[in-house]
Amino acid sequence: MTSTIDPSTIGKPARARRHVRSVTGYFPEIDEKGQEKWPRGDEKVWKAGLRGVHRDVPAITKSVVHHVQTSLARQPYNIDDFGAYQAAALSVRDNLIVNWNNTQLHHNRKGNKRAYYLSLEFLMGRTFDNALLNLDLKPQYDDGMSLLGFNLEDLIDQERDAGLGNGGLGRLAACYLDSSASMELPVWGYGLRYQYGIFQQLIGPDGSQLEAPDPWLQNDNPWELPRADVKYEVRFYGHSERIEGMKALWSGGQEVVAVAYDVMIPGYDTKNTNNLRLWESKPKRGFDLNSFNAGDYERAVEASNSAAAITSVLYPNDHTTFGKELRLKQQYFWTAASLADIMRRFKNMEKSILEFPDYVSIQLNDTHPTLAIPELMRILVDEEEVPWDQAWDIITRTFFFTNHTVLPEALEKWSVPLMQHLLPRHMQIIFDINLIFLQAVEKKFPGDRDKLARMSLIEEGYPQQVRMANLACIGSHKVNGVAELHSELVRATIMKDFVDFYGVSKFFNVTNGITPRRWLDQCNPGLSRLISETLKLPKAAFLKDLYQLEGLLKHIDDPKFQTMWAAVKQTNKERLAHYVEVTTGHRINTKAMFDIQIKRIHEYKRQTLNIFGVIHRYLALKAMTSAQRKKVNPKVVFFGGKAAPGYYIAKLTIKLVVNVARIVNADPETKDILSLFFLPDYSVSLAEILIPASDISQHISTAGTEASGTSNMKFCLNGGLLLGTVDGANIEIAEEVGEQNVFFFGHLTPAVEDLRYQHMYHPVPLEKKCPGLARVVNEVAAGRFGDGNAYEPLLNTVRKNDYYLLTEDFDSYLQALKLVDEAYQDRTEWIKKSIRTTAKMGKFSSDRAIQDYAQECWQTGVKSCSLKVLQDIKWIVQI
Ligand SMILES: *Cc1c(COP(=O)(O)O)cnc(C)c1O
Repeated sequence: MTSTIDPSTIGKPARARRHVRSVTGYFPEIDEKGQEKWPRGDEKVWKAGLRGVHRDVPAITKSVVHHVQTSLARQPYNIDDFGAYQAAALSVRDNLIVNWNNTQLHHNRKGNKRAYYLSLEFLMGRTFDNALLNLDLKPQYDDGMSLLGFNLEDLIDQERDAGLGNGGLGRLAACYLDSSASMELPVWGYGLRYQYGIFQQLIGPDGSQLEAPDPWLQNDNPWELPRADVKYEVRFYGHSERIEGMKALWSGGQEVVAVAYDVMIPGYDTKNTNNLRLWESKPKRGFDLNSFNAGDYERAVEASNSAAAITSVLYPNDHTTFGKELRLKQQYFWTAASLADIMRRFKNMEKSILEFPDYVSIQLNDTHPTLAIPELMRILVDEEEVPWDQAWDIITRTFFFTNHTVLPEALEKWSVPLMQHLLPRHMQIIFDINLIFLQAVEKKFPGDRDKLARMSLIEEGYPQQVRMANLACIGSHKVNGVAELHSELVRATIMKDFVDFYGVSKFFNVTNGITPRRWLDQCNPGLSRLISETLKLPKAAFLKDLYQLEGLLKHIDDPKFQTMWAAVKQTNKERLAHYVEVTTGHRINTKAMFDIQIKRIHEYKRQTLNIFGVIHRYLALKAMTSAQRKKVNPKVVFFGGKAAPGYYIAKLTIKLVVNVARIVNADPETKDILSLFFLPDYSVSLAEILIPASDISQHISTAGTEASGTSNMKFCLNGGLLLGTVDGANIEIAEEVGEQNVFFFGHLTPAVEDLRYQHMYHPVPLEKKCPGLARVVNEVAAGRFGDGNAYEPLLNTVRKNDYYLLTEDFDSYLQALKLVDEAYQDRTEWIKKSIRTTAKMGKFSSDRAIQDYAQECWQTGVKSCSLKVLQDIKWIVQI
């Protein structure tokens, strides 16, 4: 591609057009001698006013009371738990802000390369407890609040979850922020500040899921800082005019404003505090004013509504796409604001634009932020006047793409007419990228028209569609899957042609991980304490290096340790039983085996297999004599999870679980040996209660469909055993803990395609294929658990083409359940399995995963210990 612009102007440092005051402008400048120049006033007075972290109890209580009086404007004698929580949270936030500012200064000064994690979802859960833990201030706040007459645990319960995500993908982003901060890597997250997070799930009188909005910002959110001065204009619609060569001018249309809100992300056992920047959409002032002036009040209000609508709600779909215009608007709004912000920060470094990839890496969490690729092209080509080829080179050294699924219904495609209308310049750029790319493919594989059609960014049809995964792949330096099997499937299926074209080295694996701070220490303090005492190590030793847990293996045969291990589990089961009793009124036998399946409700995750298994068990118990039943070990089965509001089959699954529970729990013959609960409104905070209480958990997706799974890791870290298919990270967990400690069943991935083909073209009636399952299905259809007709569409998914292969796996599933029952009889053996499982979870720390990303992608691996270096910055108060 040729360009008519003067090449000598390329690569010269360019000052940012500052939309806002530079963040570094708040800090002292450095003079020629390397001395800090205080910006104004008397340096000594300033320094005397700077506050450190409140670490001791008197300082803490003083700051809490101060916030009650000033920030909350309330009198100390009418403070309730919620007020006390807010004041304590603001006091903790003071500490975070100090560390946060120092961290930013440190990285700016060092000129460190930064990595940005672009994710449309961050499922953060609660912050208060986590911040106390990471700052190592929990005991002090516990004492302080108790001096003020409050119980810290009650205050922790006052916080509403930040539910800005659907499930695993959003929670992964949250775990990765915690790890990046803890490992002192300069990684920022960018996302959207939805007014409404994931909906609140209620269960209606007939057992159906009902959805209520989640107004999580209804009360002030003490964990965010509005940044009214950090804002960018974002354009939609309008028209794009080619100017010269590849350059164009995009103008007209609608402009909205993106305003930043910062959420501080404290690292564990370090002062390093990273940032999650969330964008809110606002109408552009002046734009509305015209309409007001014209006397068209309603239109002006409409415009402001349509601007605010962009960040109003999180789309509640997991693993399915819908192609809604507002969703595309969200994606562009977020990527455009984030890139403008990244570009501004880069320009403050006064480097040549050609050095952009040396200072910036951008990780794309799934295809949701793929528009960042044409957006950066637009900035480089149209605004920075970089020739096309050089701009493309910058792109392909900046971006990294994480694929999260190979399910066809989850692969994002956007209609070309929609994109042309909303983002005319980006559509042009995508067509140009495609043209050049397909020429290269044609050159490498001459005459292979099918290959060209498969690799094209545009899928032919009415309408044509843009394939976002293809765009993300060719615009990225590297592409990764999220567990070994999944990465292999990415290479072998959806990206096969791209592997042929680029070579295999562009495609790699980073197995997901979870943060042990939240998923061990915070949710299971009893276990964390026992581990610390047993290993004779401070908690930080294994919470920062999870491989240290292997030290537990030395104690696996120690009966005293086994007893204490079992006692911790028992306490956690009682805590869950208490929660269930308070929320549902049901009492639970905590001596029973706790069997848990909690995750989004989706056909591929096969909650249906689980509920059919429960029904099968119930029918078997009913067929026994009471003497036989007395010998059966009791079991409690828990389900939790939300279904996308438009996902009919998933919602029917919930209804079936709830109605089976009503029958089973009320049956006097069986209720002591089998009970069943659907716990509504599954969330991070509910997971923190459920996971430590599990004896066994279920991860039973059809082989090849679950990319990784992360709740499997959470359960195992907490000493719960795993019942699962040979899928996702289950495989790697078994590699670590030993296959004899995992209950595997079901067909393997290579068999799945053939089996589906058989079901499609040589169907065998259910009765013949799997009589056990047929009996269950018939009981449901006959109305044993309420109106059988209502369940017909759900039952038909098994009777007809059985895409997720329940009939193929049901018998081996029952077999596995039987093995679980038998294993649980030998309690000592079970405890040993449990200890071994926890001990071998080192690999699944998100610290390891982040280390992999830093090394393979971001090259920000230099461990810049800000704890030490922060002290080099002289004016910072030493604490
Ligand atoms: C970990 C987690 C998930 C992911 O669960 P999977 O079983 O891996 O799908 C979903 N939701 C919440 C609240 C989680 O904490």
